[in-house]
Amino acid sequence: MTANLLNRRWAEHGTKISLIESSSIGIIGVGEGSTPQFKGFFDTLGIDEVEWMPKCNATYKAGIEFEGWSDKPGYERYFHPFPTNVDLYTQGQFFYSTRVRRAGRDVPAHPDPFFVPTRIAREGRAPLAPPNFPFNIGYSYHFDAHLIGAYLREYGMARGIEHIDTRIGSVELDEAGDVKALVAEDGRRFEADFFVDASGFRAAIIEGALKEPHRPFGENLFNDRAVVAPTPIPKGGVQACTKSIAKSAGWIWNIPLSNRVGNGYVYSSRYIDPDAAESEFREHLGLGENAEVRHLQMKCGRIERTWVRNCLAVGLAQGFLEPLEATALHIVMSTVESFLASWEGEKRDEFNTAIAARYEGIRDYLVCHYRTAQRRDTDYWRDATSNNIMSDSLKRIINAWFRAEDLEQEVTRQDIGKYYMPVSWHCMLAGYGNFPGPELLKPPGPDVVQFDMADIDRFVAGCAMNFPPLPEALERLKEEAA
Ligand SMILES: Cc1cc2nc3c(=O)[nH]c(=O)nc-3n(C[C@H](O)[C@H](O)[C@H](O)COP(=O)(O)OP(=O)(O)OC[C@H]3O[C@@H](n4cnc5c(N)ncnc54)[C@H](O)[C@@H]3O)c2cc1C
Repeated sequence: MTANLLNRRWAEHGTKISLIESSSIGIIGVGEGSTPQFKGFFDTLGIDEVEWMPKCNATYKAGIEFEGWSDKPGYERYFHPFPTNVDLYTQGQFFYSTRVRRAGRDVPAHPDPFFVPTRIAREGRAPLAPPNFPFNIGYSYHFDAHLIGAYLREYGMARGIEHIDTRIGSVELDEAGDVKALVAEDGRRFEADFFVDASGFRAAIIEGALKEPHRPFGENLFNDRAVVAPTPIPKGGVQACTKSIAKSAGWIWNIPLSNRVGNGYVYSSRYIDPDAAESEFREHLGLGENAEVRHLQMKCGRIERTWVRNCLAVGLAQGFLEPLEATALHIVMSTVESFLASWEGEKRDEFNTAIAARYEGIRDYLVCHYRTAQRRDTDYWRDATSNNIMSDSLKRIINAWFRAEDLEQEVTRQDIGKYYMPVSWHCMLAGYGNFPGPELLKPPGPDVVQFDMADIDRFVAGCAMNFPPLPEALERLKEEAA
């Protein structure tokens, strides 16, 4: 991603980009879900869906379905939709209803009935607006991590990026402390003016050579491991969404591709050991004894500064939050875009501050998932839901919610909508059922505007019916590609 974005902007000025990777090390090979910013990546490069999606077994994603994060009746699952223009029609009604319910009045305030992407995914449709549909629909993709890496490598090589398969053994610094060269185990030496550290969790240049400190997130994001395995496409087909299913010490993702489903149990080794996590995962998926699973360790945290001297870190080398909400590739995209803008204005410090703030802003949203989830059945969930290690910003968000204040205004006041929009905060907090218990709720009364839910349902269903079934949309792509 980074080589292509830099090449697109800099090739015309004569910059030569080399991509060094080691087939003997390989890639981490997970990370198959994304956010709408990833669509922006392909749009920026001008790569059409028909070009890349069939080659990468990609499918569409309209949002994320959270299951089992709350045991409050009626709130056992909710859908986090990618924000779209059409939802502005019902979003105001949803925000208002949550505020009224937070203030103790009995009105419907579960997010699901209000949003078109939720309906699109649940009805097995693709989030592809037909030509006559008058709104933009934001969406993203699921894809095979290995195939997309290979596709982007070929794409870059066809546009002048040099590809070198070798294993780097050491990093040479000059007298001033800048990176001078990478030295391969086969003896080759690669000098350059600027280096990008995309070496994964190793962070070989930024941490290894430049000694930039790493700030771990473990105090309020407990998960540090994952066990992963593919399964076949289920008989009933798949939906245009990632599923995130809460389990005893973490959660399981379920990412549908066109040829298989990717699954992973993300858990905390403080609460469950790898064998027990594997058993829980196998049981959940119904995996046979011979089915292979892969165990991974996750280094969750971020390096203090992303751009240090003549080195920019991206991807896992730069930091990792944990896979909930699938934000890693979105951060790569925004890092490179901001880097290019800052490079031209020589604004390295502002850039580093903004990237750190982005990590912390996204981290707050993830921490809020665990802090406001509604299950207390294991030590993991009891600790996660009572953990008070939170940023001041998140504390203010949670206070605003429970004091029945205007949450949209609070998100805007703090200027954190650039990380997660007010709709995302409302969906999460309402989706877990963070409302007064039913015994405390009073009838709405004449001072409350009550919306006709049947009317909202007709609007949402009427919009969704314009969207094609997912299998048909994928088939059409394949035919066009052929
Ligand atoms: C469990 C899990 C789930 C995830 N889910 C998501 C998700 O849903 N969505 C999302 O956006 N992200 C997700 N991520 C993050 C995602 O995997 C990464 O952002 C993405 O794969 C990019 O990884 P990377 O290129 O930084 O690192 P890697 O894939 O590890 O690549 C590192 C590269 O550096 C090379 N390299 C390393 N050392 C050397 C050396 N000495 N010499 C030469 N080459 C070297 C390797 O060969 C490789 O090519 C997930 C991560 C984990 C751990």
